Amino acid sequence: MKQVTVAVPVPLRRLFDYAVPEALASQLQPGQRVKVPFARRELIGVVVGAVVDSGRDEPAPAYEIKPVTALLDPAPLLSAALLALCRWTADYYLHPLGEVIAAALPGPLRRGEQPAIRPPEGLQLTAAGRATLPDVPARSQAMRALLTMLEPGASNAASVRARLPNAAAAIKRALDAGWIERCADGGIPRTLEPSLPLTALQAEVLAALETGIGRFGISLLEGVTGSGKTELYLRLTETVLAAGGQVLVLAPEIGLTPQLAARFKARFGDGVASFHSGLGEAERARHWLAAGAGEARIVVGTRSAVFVPMPRLQLVILDEEHDGSYKQQDGLRYHARDVAIVRARDAGAAVVLGSATPSLETLRNAKDGRYRHLKLDRRVHDTPPPRIHLLDVRHAVLENGLSPTIVDAVARHLEQGHQSLLFLNRRGYAPVLLCHDCGFVMPCPNCDARLVVHRARKRLACHHCGHVEPQPPACPDCGGRQVPIGQGTERIEDALALRFPEARIERVDSDRLKSGAALAKLLADVQAGEVDVLVGTQVLAKGHDFAGLQFAGLVDVDQALFGSDFRALERMGQLVTQVAGRVGRGGEPGEVILQTHHPEHPLLKLLVERGYPAFAAALMAERQQFLLPPFAHLALLRVEARTDGDVMAFLRKAKALLPASAAVEALGPAPATMARRAGFQRGQLLLKSHSRAALHRGLDGWLPDIEILGQQTRHRWSLDVDPGDLF
Ligand code: ADP
Ligand code: ZN
Repeated sequence: MKQVTVAVPVPLRRLFDYAVPEALASQLQPGQRVKVPFARRELIGVVVGAVVDSGRDEPAPAYEIKPVTALLDPAPLLSAALLALCRWTADYYLHPLGEVIAAALPGPLRRGEQPAIRPPEGLQLTAAGRATLPDVPARSQAMRALLTMLEPGASNAASVRARLPNAAAAIKRALDAGWIERCADGGIPRTLEPSLPLTALQAEVLAALETGIGRFGISLLEGVTGSGKTELYLRLTETVLAAGGQVLVLAPEIGLTPQLAARFKARFGDGVASFHSGLGEAERARHWLAAGAGEARIVVGTRSAVFVPMPRLQLVILDEEHDGSYKQQDGLRYHARDVAIVRARDAGAAVVLGSATPSLETLRNAKDGRYRHLKLDRRVHDTPPPRIHLLDVRHAVLENGLSPTIVDAVARHLEQGHQSLLFLNRRGYAPVLLCHDCGFVMPCPNCDARLVVHRARKRLACHHCGHVEPQPPACPDCGGRQVPIGQGTERIEDALALRFPEARIERVDSDRLKSGAALAKLLADVQAGEVDVLVGTQVLAKGHDFAGLQFAGLVDVDQALFGSDFRALERMGQLVTQVAGRVGRGGEPGEVILQTHHPEHPLLKLLVERGYPAFAAALMAERQQFLLPPFAHLALLRVEARTDGDVMAFLRKAKALLPASAAVEALGPAPATMARRAGFQRGQLLLKSHSRAALHRGLDGWLPDIEILGQQTRHRWSLDVDPGDLF
């Protein structure tokens, strides 16, 4: 009997064998999707091994293996390279291979739908069209616009229609007249917009980066905000395209991807496929297939784009490499940077990690010589970076959290016609609703958390479980008067609106901007100079280029100084540097004020006086002293259950089952920082080792025991390798 091994999307860390019907025996190959019976359902799995002969004529009755129901792909949908990447990811993050593969596939393909194999519809100018162009009469506006648009090269028909809404008739006439023709591929990128002449520093760094193209190797491009990193990404891409290769560009946020994709599109035309959760599933599947077929030569996307197949991958660019959102926080908890590096190694591609504020992990790799370290330490326009002024607010009268100094600065910049930005990484109106009479604080019914006041929508919300309720008219405990304590972005916005009624003030946070499109629209208004003051969370800090911004006020970063997570300070330093980097890019140096109750904090002082590199070096020494990443490797076992006792019992048993090893230390178990969330008690056990290999050996031996424990107790548990947060 013939059989084959299939990865099935179920939460079990094993593969399943299926019998192969005679008719399929010669067709099945690794990477094809098949329909298979599983329990009482049918699932879509992926073949992961060759068809083998089991050596028996009939299935042994002891374990009946069921036959594959149907073969869905005539040729492998997943290449050997992509399968290998999925296997590595499954092994490294200790996740079921079937679920890793499911995560790597866009929805329609995951559900077994047939990819629409529609030839890409391109349009291009013929020789006759080119000759005609100068003679097209001015009154034939649509025809002129159409031919002019196609002059530089082929374009995708759908995008021509989108950009020239009245072109349908003109396209038909031009096709009839033989001025344009359909071509198979609208997607061969070509350089449209001319590249900028590089500064001497850019040219020097580019030359160094170019020597790395054509083989595996990792470069850290540490460049201050506005130093022209993106221009270098574009140049490197040009080099790779000319050599026939593909380029994968990763960005941390959906909000940023359209901007980055737009810059690549402006330079390279329609061959740029974007890939992020803001796109429809069908479109994502189309781009996935186009990249896999080698048609899309450039893919710009978020985290999950790291799994888009690219047979001719030669370059991976990871922008803002320090950003925590490269790490997935649930399900398959992978880090896109680390997966990208493994992928590039297997493909023989170069990697460029770009950031103004590299992560400590990456800095250590650079210091140890594993990565090349290239620096762009000056802005393109040579505007000096703004100095950050530490403002001691210990005795200041704060109104709605704002010191008079910050309010005066906003007023001054408004008068001069400049834009200002106020940064506060807390959304809502106020983080606490307190009864002035009895001190009662409104709690979340499901979490160990307080409800946040959202005044605009007249309700209270929990930022951890999503619980919302109307704001009560009076204290539910004593009927007293409730007052909002502390501030979120809504409150800052309100306070500024009251103080500066003439100014256009816009709030930028995830409450206000639910979609990437809304953010893009707002950013366009900011670019056009129509917005005077921006108030926002970290959404604002990332990657955006605001030419008119001359002032930034950091309202409150003090929490991070005493945060419970070991990365809290690193993140604070990155955010502060990124926010400050937005300022003064238009040629004049800007002004940045950071309000703090801890002006003597040595690391905060170091950051503002000597900048991020010195700050990072000091943090690095601390991490080394306390044996924390990047000087140790961590894995976190998290457990959730209805009662606290169950959680701790599970964790204690798990700890006892850990294979004894001097190289792996188990810390805990302990309740999570937020011990109850969404109605569940939560606890965790931290594993730590100086050796990655030792940690993985320990985890591999341990995992089957944890799985059994999970089945016995039915508690939710997860294992997070290289956790981003420890709560
Ligand atoms: P970064 O990605 O490092 O923040 P960008 O690549 O976005 O920097 O460059 C910042 C600004 O400078 C952009 O508006 C970009 O168009 C411009 N720029 C970059 N390189 C040059 C150059 N060589 N000459 C002129 N302008 C440049
Ligand atoms: Zn809650």
